[in-house]
Amino acid sequence: MKTSQYFTYAKNATPRAQSVVVVGAGIAGLAAARTLTDRGVNVTVLEGRDRIGGRCWTRDGLDYGAHWIHGTEGNPLTNMARKLSLPIMFVGGDSSYSGGWEPLVMVGEDGRHLSPEEKLQTILLADSVRDKLDSLRRQRLANKAGDISLRAALDEVLSDEYITDEERRAVEWHIALMARDDCGADDPSLSLLWWDEGYEVYGYGDSVFADGFGALTNALGTGLDIRMQHVVRRIEYDPSRVSVTTSDGSFEADAAIITLPLGVLKAGSVEFSPRLPVAKEHSGWATSLRSCCDMTSPSGVAINTSTGISVVL
Ligand SMILES: Cc1cc2nc3c(=O)[nH]c(=O)nc-3n(C[C@H](O)[C@H](O)[C@H](O)COP(=O)(O)OP(=O)(O)OC[C@H]3O[C@@H](n4cnc5c(N)ncnc54)[C@H](O)[C@@H]3O)c2cc1C
Repeated sequence: MKTSQYFTYAKNATPRAQSVVVVGAGIAGLAAARTLTDRGVNVTVLEGRDRIGGRCWTRDGLDYGAHWIHGTEGNPLTNMARKLSLPIMFVGGDSSYSGGWEPLVMVGEDGRHLSPEEKLQTILLADSVRDKLDSLRRQRLANKAGDISLRAALDEVLSDEYITDEERRAVEWHIALMARDDCGADDPSLSLLWWDEGYEVYGYGDSVFADGFGALTNALGTGLDIRMQHVVRRIEYDPSRVSVTTSDGSFEADAAIITLPLGVLKAGSVEFSPRLPVAKEHSGWATSLRSCCDMTSPSGVAINTSTGISVVL
């Protein structure tokens, strides 16, 4: 493996595309453009707005979009921040617990404040219930048993648990908090099969960028050829070339990476010719912040399905 200032990539993977158009200057587009530029590819980024960052937007030191590095150790955002010498602050706990886990006061049935040990026990119990939910999910997937709501799954898991009413209420509270914060919905409307707030992905405790998330997108964007206020309207592609028509002229390249949000793709405001395969037009929401593209194939069109899952056509 070889490490650039920003990313690690396979040593011998020489990109065959000499020129690439990246659509969208959110973190996915900037990360892709940065990686390719570091490897000598001629990259042009087309951004509809008059700013970069997309949903990572910091103004006057305030994050209007992404704010948290969820799980600090092992999160690639932490590694990038360190490589770029961007200061981050460890907040601890899980950002679902506003203000951090440590200062949080939990109140028991009798109005008594739980001790730190009792508080810890509630989250350990909730973690074990989440593990059981995950087992149930895998089981249903393996048996092709179909989907049920997270609520129904929780009832099933809790019916097998020997816990007190107070413990049950604590578990319900932890799960409700995750559902509300990460999915914006209550558990009856969440799918067991596809619900995952990624709590096991990275190491304990969240962090924030001291100067806001925009510090990262600004660092990634430095020195890139980014054309602002170029709203992409149409993308034509064939095995050898991609042509992108914008509100301010057309751009040609060997390949394109599309990092448009799913909502934009689903609204059909960008026309693809030929049309995208149906499965890609109807992709569901992705939930993680990452971008992975195989740019060794010329004329590949990589679709970033909203929050970071890139698909290479
Ligand atoms: C309020 C909020 C809070 C969040 N909090 C967190 C958090 O704490 N931690 C975390 O990890 N994630 C968080 N997220 C998620 C995170 O912000 C996103 O996953 C991530 O920013 C998505 O990056 P992206 O590059 O895939 O898409 P975007 O940031 O949406 O980038 C897409 C870009 O495409 C541009 N564009 C759209 N249409 C066109 C067009 N036709 N032509 C040209 N350009 C176009 C847009 O202007 C935008 O710049 C949060 C998101 C929101 C909204």
